[in-house]
Amino acid sequence: MGPTPSALTELRDEAMGCTRCALAEKRTQVVFGVGHPGAALMFVGEGPGREEDLAGEPFVGRSGRLLDKLVHQELGLERTEVYIANVVKCRPPGNRDPLPAEIESCRPYLEAQLELVHPSVVVTLGNFATRLLLGTSEGIRRLRGRVYPFRGGHLVPTYHPAAALRGGAEVVAEMRADLVRAKRVLAGEAP
Ligand code: URA
Repeated sequence: MGPTPSALTELRDEAMGCTRCALAEKRTQVVFGVGHPGAALMFVGEGPGREEDLAGEPFVGRSGRLLDKLVHQELGLERTEVYIANVVKCRPPGNRDPLPAEIESCRPYLEAQLELVHPSVVVTLGNFATRLLLGTSEGIRRLRGRVYPFRGGHLVPTYHPAAALRGGAEVVAEMRADLVRAKRVLAGEAP
């Protein structure tokens, strides 16, 4: 199941020429999203970094390698079997945080991706994605560790892999536990 591939492709084509915010001026490429168009599981990160801006694909740097590894080990899935997107599709210069106006400008793309891919489980990576999709200003430390109802399915918040790279074994262990939560929900077990 999933959308007609052309619906996501059309959205991607539209995003490629986007000038809705100032991030367009400094980007190398728009990093729209990647993966299976009918994935049951979707990851949402913050925004492209330097390597993603060059490659045009989300999570291809150090954070991405950790994400791929954890998803493989805890869920038994490859990146081609899930869908991966970001809150903002263009790199904030110098890897600064995306600004509220940039997040709002870009939001329709993420909303449309959620609508078209229609995953049953969304895993948000870090504060930006979690706050945006849960509509809260609460921090990830407090929000993670639980499963939230989301668009007829479920949302599982976890740390951003960059935080796991900085935070060491304890943060990685919590991230693994969150991915196991996502796996259970995907398998239809009650959260
Ligand atoms: N960090 C993100 O939030 N997204 C990416 O695509 C890469 C790093």
